[in-house]
Amino acid sequence: MANVADTKLYDILGVPPGASDNELKKAYRKLAKEYHPDKNPNAGDKFKEISFAYEVLSNPEKRELYDRYGEQGLREGSGGSGGMDDIFSHIFGGGLFSFMGNQSRSRNGRRRGEDMMHPLKVSLEDLYNGKTTKLQLSKNVLCSSCNGQGGKSGAVQKCSACRGRGVRIMIRQLAPGMVQQMQSVCSDCNGEGEVINEKDRCKKCEGKKVIKEVKILEVHVDKGMKHGQRITFTGEADQAPGVEPGDIVLLLQEKENEVFQREGNDLHMTHKIGLVEALCGFQFTFKHLDGRQIVVKYPPGKVIEPGCVRVVRGEGMPQYRNPFEKGDLYIKFDVQFPENNWISPEKLSELEDLLPSRPEVPTVIGDTEEVDLQEFDNTRGSGGGQRREAYNDSSDEESAHHGPGVQCAHQ
Ligand SMILES: [Zn+2]
Ligand SMILES: [Zn+2]
Repeated sequence: MANVADTKLYDILGVPPGASDNELKKAYRKLAKEYHPDKNPNAGDKFKEISFAYEVLSNPEKRELYDRYGEQGLREGSGGSGGMDDIFSHIFGGGLFSFMGNQSRSRNGRRRGEDMMHPLKVSLEDLYNGKTTKLQLSKNVLCSSCNGQGGKSGAVQKCSACRGRGVRIMIRQLAPGMVQQMQSVCSDCNGEGEVINEKDRCKKCEGKKVIKEVKILEVHVDKGMKHGQRITFTGEADQAPGVEPGDIVLLLQEKENEVFQREGNDLHMTHKIGLVEALCGFQFTFKHLDGRQIVVKYPPGKVIEPGCVRVVRGEGMPQYRNPFEKGDLYIKFDVQFPENNWISPEKLSELEDLLPSRPEVPTVIGDTEEVDLQEFDNTRGSGGGQRREAYNDSSDEESAHHGPGVQCAHQ
């Protein structure tokens, strides 16, 4: 038997893969007569399949593509010409004869198995410092005792009941001129498409050709890797006979960090300071992702306005594959103001003398009306049911994701 990637189209015409042009033509003529819509109006689909199979196999170029690469070869070779897709999905996809899945053709023309995708949760610390971790997984490998044959050589026979498809198609007449095609798993071969004589069946894999094996993968999370980045283990996915194994792909999922938010190679954090620090300088310490204690100093005389951002160059995330280069660290300051009546009226006037002077109040000519300025702040949870969205404080936009309570210190 010729070594071909797929025999579906040959099966449709009922000829072996090595069939000569003459045999093909004969088979086609016979079937075309039998299923021609004029004679057999209920078999329109069958007739289309037959025509398509013959069209491909009678063309040396297309036949060669199909023999070498199966369906995928035809799809790629066809250049996506119009109308092809319908018949493709009818014959190869659409559930009826579906077998290709996500499989694609590999470089050497063998069918390629599906890739296996696993999410891998990693902390921001892991992505900063790098980490090696072990992942245990269970996968199918070819049975070593029968070399993935399922039994002694020659023991495996194509199932004759379903012609190797694993499914049988039944046609049910719903009404005159109207039929329903139904597929059912072939009971002779349990959908395998082939049968192995009980006594010749491989003892180790019980004819399944593959066995489950536990595999440990060593995963290197490199410094600076990002959320959504993939780590690929080529050819480590499930093995199956005649199929080139796909890859195991780990998809990095960065966990949220309590202190830092990441944006590319930059880090962002928020720090609360009091009014005295905002006006008179400060010093504070925080623990970085690699455990270092970082001291931040800001000299007296320099002012921090509420909501402003300062940057520490080179204290962001390491660059992937260039970890000595780092991004920057942005610190946003929440300035906490004192509470109402925090100081006696006498002290307050002393303070006023120290603070920058008030702007001159312009003299107003004509009638005036004095209004009451009321508190409006539901971050304390005591408001009259107003929602935060009801007012738009532009200085608060950037920290909106921190939720209420960050800006206001009254408690
Ligand atoms: Zn075996
Ligand atoms: Zn069968």
